[in-house]
Amino acid sequence: MKIPGFLDQRPAVKPDVVLGPALWRGPALSSVVMDRSTGRQYELNHALRYVVERLDGTRTLAEIGEDYERVFTRQLDENSWSRILALLGARRLLVGGPAETRTTAPPAPSSAPGAVRRATWWSGHLVLGNPSLPLERWHGRVGALFSPYVFGSAMALFGAAEVVVVRHLGEIFIDCSALLRRPVLLLAVVLLLAVSTGLHELAHGLTARHFDGDATEIGIAWFLPAVFPYCKVEGVSLFASRWRRAATAFAGAFANLLVLLPFLPLWWWSGSATSLRAVAGGFLLAGSVTTAANLLPIARMDGYQVLGALLNISNLSDESRRYRRLLVRKVRRGPDGTLDYPRWARWVYGAYPFLAVSSGGAFLLALVYVCFRVGAPVFGNLAVTVLVSLVSAAVLAALVTRNAYARTAADAAAKASTTV
Ligand SMILES: [Zn+2]
Repeated sequence: MKIPGFLDQRPAVKPDVVLGPALWRGPALSSVVMDRSTGRQYELNHALRYVVERLDGTRTLAEIGEDYERVFTRQLDENSWSRILALLGARRLLVGGPAETRTTAPPAPSSAPGAVRRATWWSGHLVLGNPSLPLERWHGRVGALFSPYVFGSAMALFGAAEVVVVRHLGEIFIDCSALLRRPVLLLAVVLLLAVSTGLHELAHGLTARHFDGDATEIGIAWFLPAVFPYCKVEGVSLFASRWRRAATAFAGAFANLLVLLPFLPLWWWSGSATSLRAVAGGFLLAGSVTTAANLLPIARMDGYQVLGALLNISNLSDESRRYRRLLVRKVRRGPDGTLDYPRWARWVYGAYPFLAVSSGGAFLLALVYVCFRVGAPVFGNLAVTVLVSLVSAAVLAALVTRNAYARTAADAAAKASTTV
């Protein structure tokens, strides 16, 4: 049924509605759209995103429909338009729809500082506060850190520093062995690692803030046996630039490297066999190992997020699993099976498990080597073999639980964001 003048309407999405970039999710593109006035997020398929992007109040439905047909070779008739407008209207994304105000009430009790959110007895969050305001202040002071020149120079320095660390690994191992005989010094290294980890989380928030995102909560999360600080950042999936998304994910490791840097000259110039040299050497080694672990492209670590951002892919690991499942089904069905993925996506989703296993395996081997070189002179080979088995099991358990934790968080976010 044709309604006269229906296609001459010029509806517009609300000015508060922000469209995220188109990201690959399996074989297709999808985007996040956020209503800043309510904080609600929805996921749009590529065709609907195309339409929403053009609903600006200046173009008629007929004009948008013509553009749409050229790109998607499908017509948008009145019925299609009615469904789309009803859908967007129901989500209150259109100008002139029923008003809905942002909740201005104080934060929910579960987000208040000191609140404990317990999912199970072995997993939960302890909220320490909302870092939004302090980050706003700090951002004014450390804004220069976001200059590409500062970043490039710092990365060149880190590269040079890590070359020095690797070339003097034998001496650093001896310093670390000395640490194992002096628990107080070992504790100093653990404290330095804790400070570095805290700064890591703040760096994520600060970078998100720099690119117009926000950090809304910091705290301690536990997913036993893993316990780690966290910083909840918002709006990263709305950053149009993949570099900005990657930079936000990389910022934590960058902060770790910045903290690590002064310890190289400290180690270099402190006298041999001194406490300072042992602590500096221990922190250089432990800091380098933990930063490398964080940059692995697995278990939803920061390296995994950086890789996904650079490839413009969301949920790389889940989508790789889905692709492999579909590939097995297609192989079983023979010529009838279909697998409608772009060629590059087949390569990326197919290659990801190899990248994950090889990088994780190489890291574990390096860790075992370090444990032997540091531990054997103090405890002997047998004890270190036991210790290495325990450390490997703990690292694997931490990776698995971290992955499960991140997955739970991603599922919660997906539940909060409705697919439109
Ligand atoms: Zn991080």
